[in-house]
Amino acid sequence: MSTLTIKDFNKTYSNGVQACKNVNLTIQTGMFGLLGPNGAGKSTLMRTIATLQDGDSGSIFLDDLNVLQEKHEVRKILGFLPQEFDLYPKSTAYELLNHLAVLKGMNDAKTRKNAVLSLLERTNLSNHKNKYLGGFSGGMKQRFGIAQALLNNPKLLIVDEPTAGLDPEERFRFHNILSELGENIIVILSTHIVDDVSDLCNSMAIMNHGEVLIENHPEKVLEQLKDKVWYKVIEKNEIDAVKNNYRVLSSRMYMGKTKVHVFDDDSATTDSSSGGDSLRPQSNGFTQVEADLNDAYFYYVGDV
Ligand code: ADP
Repeated sequence: MSTLTIKDFNKTYSNGVQACKNVNLTIQTGMFGLLGPNGAGKSTLMRTIATLQDGDSGSIFLDDLNVLQEKHEVRKILGFLPQEFDLYPKSTAYELLNHLAVLKGMNDAKTRKNAVLSLLERTNLSNHKNKYLGGFSGGMKQRFGIAQALLNNPKLLIVDEPTAGLDPEERFRFHNILSELGENIIVILSTHIVDDVSDLCNSMAIMNHGEVLIENHPEKVLEQLKDKVWYKVIEKNEIDAVKNNYRVLSSRMYMGKTKVHVFDDDSATTDSSSGGDSLRPQSNGFTQVEADLNDAYFYYVGDV
């Protein structure tokens, strides 16, 4: 069991953007989802943990390894799948992985060959090992990215915003690989895709504007919204009226109409000063719904 401990981490870029503000997180072996919209500060944090850039203040430890200072040691036990993963289109999967293994110091040819073949197997790429990377689909590229990130058998794997549009089968494969890894090491999945976190992660945090808004197990995050989320299917032009009266969490198209989720804090609306019973969702055609992580995400991040 490993623990990554981030304490009071701050980073302001030279243009004045404060990308991380007093970030505190404790991340243990398993799959951790770092969720937040674009610009939240996720990549800044991930790139710092991956020793690719420096922070201004605070500390990051992986067990007793000082991540901000002992970068060389961190690199030995870190796997990183960056947002943009450049592949050499004219290499085959086997060639490039073998080349990267050489760069990582795997000098013994036989050991290297075995490691490369086993990683290609593990990421379901064995059948494609002699194909040019230029012809790989988005999902295959992502799995290759995982294979290269696992070359040094990392204790910590960071997957920063896997953006490639994956078809359902590829997504399932990619998720399976990640969740298998999460049984033994720390896997941090940084993403703006709520469903990826709800499908995969046993622990999570939501970030926005450089700050961590909540860190907990997904079920605990949902507990805070228990019995407070309501939905109604409305006509498109009714949305403004709903927004005037309720805190709208999300609205999405639903069979040609709009399905709106609102947050209603029981105690606040029974208070006579806040409009009384006439505004209670149940008096206005809303149905209570079990909160999901999308509701929680919009609850914390705001703005639909
Ligand atoms: P996320 O990964 O959540 O999208 P980022 O960490 O990439 O967030 O960005 C956080 C904020 O920092 C954004 O406002 C972004 O524009 C800014 N930012 C990121 N990288 C740089 C940089 N190299 N120089 C200046 N500002 C940056």
